[in-house]
Parts: sequence; structure tokens; C-alpha cells
Amino acid sequence: MNHRPSKIVCVGRSYADHAKELGNAVPDRPVLFIKPSSSLIGLHEGITWNKALGSCHYECELSLRIDQPLKNETDPVKALQAIGAVTLGLDLTLRDVQNELKNKGQPWERAKAFDGSCMLGDWIDVAEIEDWTHTTYTFAVNDEIRQKGDTAYLLFNIAEMLCDMSQAFTLDAGDVVMTGTPVGVGALHSDDQLTLTLNGKTQDFVWTTFVQAD
Ligand code: ZN
Repeated sequence: MNHRPSKIVCVGRSYADHAKELGNAVPDRPVLFIKPSSSLIGLHEGITWNKALGSCHYECELSLRIDQPLKNETDPVKALQAIGAVTLGLDLTLRDVQNELKNKGQPWERAKAFDGSCMLGDWIDVAEIEDWTHTTYTFAVNDEIRQKGDTAYLLFNIAEMLCDMSQAFTLDAGDVVMTGTPVGVGALHSDDQLTLTLNGKTQDFVWTTFVQAD
């Protein structure tokens, strides 16, 4: 399934520590937003953004490909069975723009849905996930680990997230879900080398990318 997704549904503030680091309240239900398919970019292309808009932050996130449509789903088992593949992705965020938008009470799209704002690794088989409630990954900048993800610490587990978002939007086959980022987000800089590592059942899966030079 290599066609472009109809949408990428993202969860904000899904880890309490990350909500707090940005001064946000811990939500009582998932905070959802959508990136368009035009935001997708491959690892080999490298990251760039309009520097006049201020800082661009990395947010490393466990990302899911939905292979079976989900609409108004309430059964957590069926929700998990709809996942066909998994990878790590970067929810790239123009943080200064986002803060300005938040202050004005405006939507986040200018900060989170721009071209190149969704970088995804290669899809791997869902069989590599032994337990959706204890899946771990790391994100490093220039070989220094900045983020450690563990789905055990999600405020809403993966099944709950999928059921909840399917009440708001039909998840079509091929759609992507980004499950939110753990604590440790920060600004990217020219020439940064980025390493995303997902701890699978049989091996660690490692993807690398970079920030383009000025
Ligand atoms: Zn995010």
C-alpha cells in the first residue's frame, strides 16, 4: 500500500511530561489535529523550513498505518487489528509560529501542516510490535539521545486513541496516525544528524536523516 494517505491524524499532548514541558494542561481526552498528504516527506530528502518563521522543533512519534477502515469503532481489539504497519515519524513543528497561533486562539496548521512537516520512516511489519502498551523507541540528535518513548506512559493507550479518533473522522485504509511525542522536544539546527530507533520484537529498527545545511 504505497499510495498517499488521505490524511495523517496526529495526537497532541499524549504524554503528560511533554504537555507540561510546553506549559499545557494535561488533556481529559485526546487532542487531535490533521496534517495533509502534502506535508509528507521522506527521510532521504532532509529537513528544511522557512527560517524567517523562527524555530523548527522535532517531535519523534510512533506512527501507525491503518489498513482496515475504522468508523465509530468502540472495540479496542478491532481498533488494534486495523493497524497494518508501524514506523517512527517526526511531527515537525514551527514552535514560534505555533506559540503565536495559540496566543491568538487560532488553528495550528501554519505551524504543523506545512510542506515537509511530516517525515516518516519506512513501514515495518506490525508483527514486530509485541505489546502496544509497552512499545519503546528513542530519538537522538548528533548521537545524543533527546527523547525516549514508551507507550506505557501514554495518557490514552493506542486502542483508546484509535476508537476516539474514529468517532470524529473515518480512518481510511492507508491513513497514518501519529501517536504523540514524549518529553524532550527541541529546536533543530543546520547539519544536525538525526537517528530514530524503534525497539522491535526481533531487532531494533534504525532510521537516520538530517537537517539541510543553510
Ligand atoms: Zn506531535
